[in-house]
Amino acid sequence: MARKFFVGGNFKMNPTTVESKRALLKALNEATLDPEVEVVIAPPSLYLIPVISELRKDVGVAAQNCHPKSAGAYTGEISAVQLHDAGIPYVILGHSERRALFHETSELVAEKTKSAVEVGLTVILCVGEMLEERESGKTTEVVEAQLGEVVKLLDPSKWKQIVVAYEPVWAIGTGKVATPDQAQETHHAIRAYLAKEVSQEVAENTRIIYGGSVNASNCAQLSVQPDIDGFLVGGASLKPEFVQIVNTKL
Ligand code: PGA
Repeated sequence: MARKFFVGGNFKMNPTTVESKRALLKALNEATLDPEVEVVIAPPSLYLIPVISELRKDVGVAAQNCHPKSAGAYTGEISAVQLHDAGIPYVILGHSERRALFHETSELVAEKTKSAVEVGLTVILCVGEMLEERESGKTTEVVEAQLGEVVKLLDPSKWKQIVVAYEPVWAIGTGKVATPDQAQETHHAIRAYLAKEVSQEVAENTRIIYGGSVNASNCAQLSVQPDIDGFLVGGASLKPEFVQIVNTKL
């Protein structure tokens, strides 16, 4: 089964006004998008429900985080159960900003992932190494350890609901994109790891997307790598070039 190309737009804590959120959606609603691509945008949680109703139906909506418990005294948090009930089908988990700035461990990310897939959400599960880790030859070890916590908790049948996003931390928001060879090498290693630790079938069917300074000028070269099944786009998802990234295969 061919893996469907997947492009996610991670808005992070942007935009800052309802007006600019509307303008972003208008541009996306009016664009011609490759129908062969699964497109998902992840606005801040405040906008999730209005975005669901304002956005064209062939584009999905993702939250940027969720809590592993379903309900309770967790001020400021949103659960996977609530996301599912509100009609939000996707959630980004384990983004490097959450790991670094909000001290999320791989164990916590795995618990969140389990809670999300159990209610039926699709998880965009982010992994990636820091610059020092790449420079000391630890990239594969780091991403395997991050994935390993999820492998431990997840029933193999649930991997259908996971899209792995490989995002080298040194490439996020820096303008320093991984070369197609660097990205391909790690994507291949992730697929080999899934084959070894979960199953050959899961390895073949799981989308592994690349994130980190993807833009309209570097996406084509990355997209032709055999193990790159799409992108998670930050900064460029707030710009008109997001449409070009979605349409990179056209
Ligand atoms: P960037 O962010 O495209 O701005 O580098 C990617 C991400 O954080 O998902």
